[in-house]
Amino acid sequence: MPRRAVRPKPAAVTASSPCPCGLPATYGACCGLRHAGSPASTAQLLMRSRYSAFVVLDESYLLRTWHPSTRPASLDLDPRVRWLGLDVLATTAGGPFHTEGTVDFTARHLDGGRQESLREHSRFVRHEGAWVYLDAAGAATG
Ligand SMILES: [Zn+2]
Repeated sequence: MPRRAVRPKPAAVTASSPCPCGLPATYGACCGLRHAGSPASTAQLLMRSRYSAFVVLDESYLLRTWHPSTRPASLDLDPRVRWLGLDVLATTAGGPFHTEGTVDFTARHLDGGRQESLREHSRFVRHEGAWVYLDAAGAATG
């Protein structure tokens, strides 16, 4: 782990910003499309767009890409959390011709000045044709 000070900037993501999800594209050409209503073709793209929704505080996107059986009634994202990056570690299925898939990832963030890393194994299924998040098993790894 490099031990340099992390100096977060306020999240000011615009259409021409690098996409928060880490793919080599602008937000407007990547997760921004999905936040605007274009469906994700794979579970991994949905997972990335949900990560980006945390960054841009798009609670309604998170709720509408959540399976109705596990979806909370509402979300209250903490704008003080600074997301630092996403690493997709592994995927299973989740492609255009699948009905379920999993994504293993690590999401790094600063919470009250402390860098934390959340590792999760998330499950995705199709609901009415579109990929949605079902549930996850995971642990904060500090
Ligand atoms: Zn993206």
